[in-house]
Amino acid sequence: SRAWTLVKHFEGAPKLSDFKLKEVQLPKIKHGEVLVEAEYFSVDPYMRPYSKRVMKEGDIMIGTQVARVLESNDTAFPVGSYVLSDAGWTTHSVSQGKDLTPLLPNWPKHIPKSLALGTIGMPGLTAYFGLKEICSAKKGEIVLVNGAAGAVGSLVGQIAKIIGCKVVGSAGSDDKVQYLKGIGFDEAFNYKTVGSLEEALKKASPEGYDCFFENVGGHFADVALLQMRKYGRIAVCGAIALYNDTTPRKGEYVHIPLIFQELRMEGFVVQRWRNRYNEGLEKLMEWVVEGKLKYHEHITRGFDNMPAAFIGMLKGDNTGKAIITAK
Ligand code: NDP
Repeated sequence: SRAWTLVKHFEGAPKLSDFKLKEVQLPKIKHGEVLVEAEYFSVDPYMRPYSKRVMKEGDIMIGTQVARVLESNDTAFPVGSYVLSDAGWTTHSVSQGKDLTPLLPNWPKHIPKSLALGTIGMPGLTAYFGLKEICSAKKGEIVLVNGAAGAVGSLVGQIAKIIGCKVVGSAGSDDKVQYLKGIGFDEAFNYKTVGSLEEALKKASPEGYDCFFENVGGHFADVALLQMRKYGRIAVCGAIALYNDTTPRKGEYVHIPLIFQELRMEGFVVQRWRNRYNEGLEKLMEWVVEGKLKYHEHITRGFDNMPAAFIGMLKGDNTGKAIITAK
């Protein structure tokens, strides 16, 4: 097996030299064990802040992959079946099954299995439960989402449209803005070239916003909070603009809109709904099959390019979900 390890905990933006490729000799599988081979890898923003909490230097990088079972001593995972594996950035792994989850049964042939890492996986569930349970988005309401052309954001906007909301999104390039309009966003703008963020938000929705699905943090959040309507809800999902900071920034003064607009602001981690994942995944699959939810993947070919794909995703190279193929 080959595996990418973390040489040194990230400081500031991750660099290629933070990673090292290693050959790992795998043992023969024992009773109850399974050998899997990765086909698709995911790189996700959480790997940047979370690695320091759960990894030691020298460990294999954390992450989820779609893998095929090559050898099996566990009837729950027959040879040839596909699983989600939490083995991390490694081409092959031996598992006792605890970190494996079978893909949804009856996965349609024409739907790529890599979607289990994106639209019909963790990012999809984040959009689904965050919008439903934290934003409580309702028909006729106005939803704002930043990081809108990414894995989670592009789904937040589309699910909000399915609910019957007006949707405004922001993203970091004109191509991404075009993409957002193509998948049904009512308004979209490029936050890098827009000049005044306040004016862009007001222009996109002069009435303000009922829901704000927050993926970015920092300046954007400070400005957006002041555009919230009475009883607005803010789902704090991510803060990608802050993950590379070496010293925490001082927040702006958010109390005034929180009080006078009587807002509700709540952070969440998608695992909160782990007991309802199947409900979410089945709904997401249904919408994809019906064509109500469009998916887009930014595919990097080859395991050797994983660190570059991760660094690229953090910088905004991807539209939709960043995926790496094993070969
Ligand atoms: P994306 O596919 O959205 O990829 C990351 C994107 O972030 C880039 O494409 C880039 O797009 C944007 N970005 C990078 N730097 C900045 C910046 N300084 N300001 C604004 N945008 C920036 O990733 P995901 O969809 O997987 O994740 C989106 C967010 O959701 C992240 O914050 C992540 O941590 C969070 N998340 C939270 C979960 C939870 O359980 N709470 C679960 C999953 C994700 P652009 O070109 O637009 O700048």
